[in-house]
Amino acid sequence: MKQVLILHYHEIWLKGENKNYFLSRLRGAVKQSIADLPVASIEGISERLIVTPADEEALPRIIERLSRVFGIAYIAVAREVPSPLESLGPAACEMMMEANPRNFAVRVKMADAQYGMNSMELEVELGRQVLEHLRARDATVRVKLNDPEITCQVEVIPGKALIYARRVQGPGGLPAVTIGRVVALLSGGFDSSVAAYKMMRRGCHVSFVHFFGTPSPSRNSSTGVADELVRTLTPYQFTSRLYLVPFDAVQRQIVAGAHESYRVLLYRRMMGRISRNIAWAERAHGLVTGDSISQVASQTLHNLKAIDQGLDLPVYRPLAGDDKSEIIRLAEKIGTYKISCEPFEDCCPRFMPRSPAIFARPQELDEAERQLDIDALIRLGLEGATCTEYKFEMGEVTSRQGSPRKIEKSMKARKAAEGQPAAQDAASNGLSDAAGV
Ligand code: ATP
Ligand code: MG
Repeated sequence: MKQVLILHYHEIWLKGENKNYFLSRLRGAVKQSIADLPVASIEGISERLIVTPADEEALPRIIERLSRVFGIAYIAVAREVPSPLESLGPAACEMMMEANPRNFAVRVKMADAQYGMNSMELEVELGRQVLEHLRARDATVRVKLNDPEITCQVEVIPGKALIYARRVQGPGGLPAVTIGRVVALLSGGFDSSVAAYKMMRRGCHVSFVHFFGTPSPSRNSSTGVADELVRTLTPYQFTSRLYLVPFDAVQRQIVAGAHESYRVLLYRRMMGRISRNIAWAERAHGLVTGDSISQVASQTLHNLKAIDQGLDLPVYRPLAGDDKSEIIRLAEKIGTYKISCEPFEDCCPRFMPRSPAIFARPQELDEAERQLDIDALIRLGLEGATCTEYKFEMGEVTSRQGSPRKIEKSMKARKAAEGQPAAQDAASNGLSDAAGV
């Protein structure tokens, strides 16, 4: 019996006028994610996608890849049989004999107007045949329509039927790269890559920014960790960009110019501003961070509000209400957990305060920053930034050096649009922070 995969998608996004757009993106994502595997066809049939392998031995690998395609609710491993009852009945009996349930139900989805039975009639008939067959082995087997141990699913389409009892969970969400770009602040820790994943699952195309410093001699730099994380996340969205921003010099000035207890919050404010300028260049609609309310001192409601003040771009915090165990579980599932366990430091420990402020007000941070030249600090970060582009193609992630000059160009354009005269040298015109705080 031929085996096929039925991809069921969430139907919420199918209701509106954008149905065709989302569907074609889903189909494109499915095709791209299994491009290097032996697949005979991908067809759209009756609100489902059917993937037929060219070699059934490759099924586990195909399923593994598809379980990363956003928009897929679940993948059913189905057998394709001729739809007349004479073939369908024995096939259902054989499949349920293998599944060996104590109780079961049969569910039919009828998409063939010429079949001669409606879905309920076929459910009753197949249920009767399967029950009789299973009872020959175990007389206690029964039909249980409510919450059965195994459901025998039957989908009848013109010319054939697909039957299955086994489903593999998909990631759900919306098809990748369908609703616009956001810029995620990626630290290397568990939280921020999970936060980026959650936004990707809602259809956002995520670009990444990582701030790095000089680690203590016994620790590795965090840039390798950021690279590995982006490599791991790229197959979910096919292309990514990672900006690496040197942060030592910025931190040194904050350490010299502001009170120790505000340091971490001021670092976070500067990371926000530099990322916001990158977001402008990327034409992104928001920032994403891995903050979880009250997990660490910088993440109290007061501090998060003080950090965001004046940023002029939405900051999405998809983990705000999650606890660490939920975050870790998702990190394990998406493959980032082990990478974040590696020992690394994204910041020189000398720059960390002994006791950070817990309930800072925005005005206190404004005051603490009075000594600092914010525009110059933003420029300092952006001038040192490098950019890497990643691509997932034919089952592999490749990367190449990108051009951070995009940032410079965007800042110039922004200044020009605001009617400000563009200065001559790139250092002072391209990267300056027009909005300030
Ligand atoms: P994470 O596990 O993501 O590191 P955390 O719980 O350790 O988060 P913080 O270190 O306070 O909390 O960081 C909060 C958020 O700030 C991070 O989730 C990330 O979005 C951003 N962030 C912190 N450090 C960096 C960094 N070096 N580069 C980029 N973003 C960062
Ligand atoms: Mg961290």
